[in-house]
Amino acid sequence: MIVAKFGGSSLANAANFNMVMNTIESDDRRKIIVVSAPGARFKGDTKVTDLLIKAAKAVPGSTESKGFVEDICARLAEIAEGVGAGTQCVSGAEADIMGRLAMDASQKEMRLDAVKAYGEEWCARIMAAAFSARGKKAKFIDPREAGMSVTTEYGNARQTNGCYKKLSKLANYDGITVVPGFYGGTSRGSIATFSRGGSDLSGSIIAAAVKAEAYENFSDVPGICAADPGIVDNPRLISELTFRELRELTYSGFSVFHDEAIRPLVERAPDIPILVRHSDGRDTFTKIVNDRKQDDNCVVGIAADTNFVSFNVEKHLMNREIGYGRKLLHIIEKRGLSYEHTPSSIDSISVVIRLPKEYDPKTKSINQEIAAANKATVVGLLEDIKSKLNPAPDIVKADTGLAMIAIVGEGMKESVGTAAKATAAFASASANIEMISQGASEISIVFGVMENRVGDAVRSLYKTFFA
Ligand code: ASP
Repeated sequence: MIVAKFGGSSLANAANFNMVMNTIESDDRRKIIVVSAPGARFKGDTKVTDLLIKAAKAVPGSTESKGFVEDICARLAEIAEGVGAGTQCVSGAEADIMGRLAMDASQKEMRLDAVKAYGEEWCARIMAAAFSARGKKAKFIDPREAGMSVTTEYGNARQTNGCYKKLSKLANYDGITVVPGFYGGTSRGSIATFSRGGSDLSGSIIAAAVKAEAYENFSDVPGICAADPGIVDNPRLISELTFRELRELTYSGFSVFHDEAIRPLVERAPDIPILVRHSDGRDTFTKIVNDRKQDDNCVVGIAADTNFVSFNVEKHLMNREIGYGRKLLHIIEKRGLSYEHTPSSIDSISVVIRLPKEYDPKTKSINQEIAAANKATVVGLLEDIKSKLNPAPDIVKADTGLAMIAIVGEGMKESVGTAAKATAAFASASANIEMISQGASEISIVFGVMENRVGDAVRSLYKTFFA
């Protein structure tokens, strides 16, 4: 049996929805279907989840709020009609959203999650009804009922250890079960969602629970590319990569797959492969496995991410100061920040921190709220380091606007000269390397460069390792 998850872009309108259902029907091992909420129908369109967030934030009962509700319900009705499920299957949708919006506003996060989860729930209801209309045996099941128990970390919930046993019963049904992704039920009886993109995680939890033969993750891309197609023209598709390689790539900037979604499989069912593939059911895909045979190319992918800041601390004879690094990290910890890298030399240490993204690619503008918060983080941390680090450092400064580029591949452990090739690629792109970091696992080497050099550097690396 296969667990198949479909992303929002594949469910954005009736045409895509029908294509998804055909893909499901083309392989009768696809028994458990996990769905996202309908995504953007065209460039610049708003995903249903984003509409829901806007509705939750609008003044209850205001014209603005009513407008969002109308839009959301109209989108559901249009899909229901277009996939042959009939609008009667969404007849309760408006009352449901109104009920969620009317929840106690003082429980802000709990209410927001209940509203956010609505898109997945109704998408799944429509699909189950549409399969029935096609004469297929199919049912909708709410994840809370199925056993998806999660923590009360609203907006960023985690599955509980106990959820797997109950969810394993999903395997018993002989028709198609459609389950909404993205949320589960808490011990308080409330709904809590995973972080954004969390339906990927729902799918892998369920795949691990039912011991599926594969977890297929469908979206509007044919698989995972070796580099960002927005930077490199027609990058090659990766045919196979390991869970560890995928984890490094997603963490370092690849956005095809939620970065926590690998864990349930790695920990509980490492033999279940993940297949990242296109919703139209075409044959190409990227297979993610626990172990793979190494090929000639020791690098499988190149990822890049922006919005890093490096706090650089210099102190003469730092190597003789026992506990200096610990004290520095303690100051960072006190501010509730986690760090990514700590390159060091005898008299200096840098701590690299990832800041939330200020640039919103959707609106092509800077989110002023995030920008102000980031500025406050940098200024506050600089002050803390200067005033609290004892003995006082000679120089403390923060380099902002840094990007991290990672070359990833398990084969790097066994091959000589990969770093040399990479640094030559940076040189030919005239990209100055601000830092280099390679962990003990040797699965990736991370290079810090200024953000404006990312494009050229990634293209040059791609030419070196894949052309
Ligand atoms: N609909 C949710 C989001 O937009 C979850 C998901 O798509 O996986 O983040």
